[in-house]
Amino acid sequence: MNNHYGRRTIMSRIAFIGLGNMGLPMARNLLKAGHTVVGFDLAPQSLAALAEAGGVIAGSVGDAASGADVVVTMLPAGRHVRGVYEDAGNVFDTAAPGALLIDSSTIDVDSARAVAAAAAARGFAMVDAPVSGGTGGAAAGTLTFMVGGSDEAMERARPYLSQMGKTVVHTGGPGTGQAAKICNNMILGISMIAVSEAFALADKLGLDRQKLFDVSSTSSGQCWSLTTYCPVPGPVPTSPANRDYAPGFAVDMMLKDLKLAQAAAASSGAATPLGANAAALYALFAAAGNGHLDFSAIVKMLGGEVSRR
Ligand code: NAD
Repeated sequence: MNNHYGRRTIMSRIAFIGLGNMGLPMARNLLKAGHTVVGFDLAPQSLAALAEAGGVIAGSVGDAASGADVVVTMLPAGRHVRGVYEDAGNVFDTAAPGALLIDSSTIDVDSARAVAAAAAARGFAMVDAPVSGGTGGAAAGTLTFMVGGSDEAMERARPYLSQMGKTVVHTGGPGTGQAAKICNNMILGISMIAVSEAFALADKLGLDRQKLFDVSSTSSGQCWSLTTYCPVPGPVPTSPANRDYAPGFAVDMMLKDLKLAQAAAASSGAATPLGANAAALYALFAAAGNGHLDFSAIVKMLGGEVSRR
């Protein structure tokens, strides 16, 4: 079996823990690549879906991890990741010595570094490898992985990551994958608000939205939030604004990442005043009942429309 790099990949026994919206399609791609995937999730329907795809169902985290060459986790938050690796009878207690551990969840940098240090102390190779690309990218195998860990752990992880994604960037030592993810998404949250404010101002000034787009998309205001993901309907026909803000990337997910960025800024002493404002605005928008909408829908609140949809 050749991976994206044209190298032969050894078939492995992979424990996959966390088979939700992202984990299940990622596990399917590992199955398609010929690996044995032993999965565990708290939700019985996720286990049934894995079995349907040809995977093996485990009864617990420990059962999945025991005898695995590789453990992949795709879990909601830092506390879940720490529990799955560190709790008695879980991954650290059951995985084979020297197993490769890949955490692809988006979690706080401090938890990622704590788990990586505990893994290293027990002789495991571990990378934090959060992703960008959403459920569509997970299904298509086109995710981007941002990978924090040693050179050696990175090279061991690369064949598996390239079977689940298209782009793999080694970002540095432990925790830097999570750092890259939250820095990028902080740019995204801030830039979406900036673009939305510009459209709100244009409306008040009687400037046609398409004309603002035509100017700014070819001027110094150009950015991804404008040219690929334009928050008002019309200028970019594929953007969520044209389908009533069906996600895409939901407000709740953006808020999670902005809160992680704020936690990291607080613990590292970085000044991120616009990131703090972006987190506050998304919290307000989510609290008004809009958490399920695409994050570009923030334009509705900034344009004066705050009602629940
Ligand atoms: P999800 O809620 O659909 O899936 C998480 C799964 O983990 C659930 O099935 C849950 O039952 C399981 N789980 C929780 N605790 C567990 C435990 N102790 N043992 C076993 N299973 C457990 O979430 P998702 O959308 O798949 O996201 C997973 C991660 O990927 C999150 O950190 C998220 O921020 C990140 N992410 C998501 C997207 C996206 O578009 N959905 C994009 C990029 C990154």
